[in-house]
Amino acid sequence: MKDEIVILGSGGGRHHIRTQHRATGGFLFKFNGIQAHIDPGPGAMVRLTQYKEDPVKTELFVVTHAHVDHYNDINAIIESSREIIHDKNYNYYKKGILITTLEVINLIQEYHLNMLEQIVRFKAGDKLNYKGVEIVGTKAIHSPVNESFGIKFNLKEYSLAYTSDTKVFEDFSNQFSGVNILILNLLRPDSITCKRHLCTDEVIPYLNKIDPPLDCLIITHFGSYMDGPRSKRNFVPSQVNKLQEQTNIKKIIAAEDGLKLKIDELII
Ligand SMILES: [Zn+2]
Ligand SMILES: [Zn+2]
Repeated sequence: MKDEIVILGSGGGRHHIRTQHRATGGFLFKFNGIQAHIDPGPGAMVRLTQYKEDPVKTELFVVTHAHVDHYNDINAIIESSREIIHDKNYNYYKKGILITTLEVINLIQEYHLNMLEQIVRFKAGDKLNYKGVEIVGTKAIHSPVNESFGIKFNLKEYSLAYTSDTKVFEDFSNQFSGVNILILNLLRPDSITCKRHLCTDEVIPYLNKIDPPLDCLIITHFGSYMDGPRSKRNFVPSQVNKLQEQTNIKKIIAAEDGLKLKIDELII
């Protein structure tokens, strides 16, 4: 299996947008020969080039909500996903499918929306079959004013989910039942809570309620308290240790900018 995850940014929130202390380009998920770019925040385009990834291969675009650290580079990513934009008569080639919220659709230029084959307005609970892979919207509780969702890919050999930005809630664990690999946006360390995001101590009991247990947890989208302008040190390694000690998950991986992970090595 050649499936892979490429971290184009392990940072989240405005301080990383400003400093790029950790990049904010989202990540690539390559599965069944399909390349998806998920949450292309500021610098996504630059990171693709920096980490020697090919934007032309992207055919699935996912933006989970209308925050700038998730959608900023989407126009550039769509435009860069084709070598030739139009024919001699200015007929634009259509390619790719965009999965996002209505709010994000309204933020993307008409010009770029017209380049896509399909635009899917998505929310928690929605399902879509894309080339034999079931894609499911998971619930996220994040901003009071912006709609948002997480996303789960059910493949034959494994299932991968991405929480997006969220708090924990009643059904948080249930919706990841059967998931092998979970990508978790973990903005803050230990017990440093935040109204709209997760911290480690809050999420641990919910991770332990996922049944059967995950094979692998990838933590990412670290905020400035975790590592950056407002943190005394990089708290990421201590959070990995804590998660290893206090959860039933076999593999805990911290995202780093440019990290490439082979799915084969993540599932048991
Ligand atoms: Zn975010
Ligand atoms: Zn957000």
